[in-house]
Amino acid sequence: MVLRAPGTFRNWYVNVETPAVRWAGGLDADDLEVDVVAGPDRRCQLKDVDEAEAANAAGEVRDEWAARARSEAEQAIADITKGVWPYDGTWTDFRPDPSWPVPELPANWNQPVPGYTGAGLL
Ligand SMILES: [Mg+2]
Repeated sequence: MVLRAPGTFRNWYVNVETPAVRWAGGLDADDLEVDVVAGPDRRCQLKDVDEAEAANAAGEVRDEWAARARSEAEQAIADITKGVWPYDGTWTDFRPDPSWPVPELPANWNQPVPGYTGAGLL
């Protein structure tokens, strides 16, 4: 376990998702399972590849989206390794203003999006 001062940068976490779709209640996207985690030393770790492969094998994520997810994860690893924005450290010291209120979810946050088909997952 690495001890660090409270509020210090711990890692980037890239959650690979379908492109977000805007609707009256906000934004929706589907998680494509695979994630990338990288610490301040920029060493990258792929997470949940097994879950992504299982979702693809089960037909929950089409081949096209599975391939895009792998490609996006590989691009994130390349960008993190090179220190390309937003992995250049620009936001690693960001702290929200403590006076900001905690936002509340709208009542319709989990309603199905009219016409949304999971960005073509099925
Ligand atoms: Mg994920």
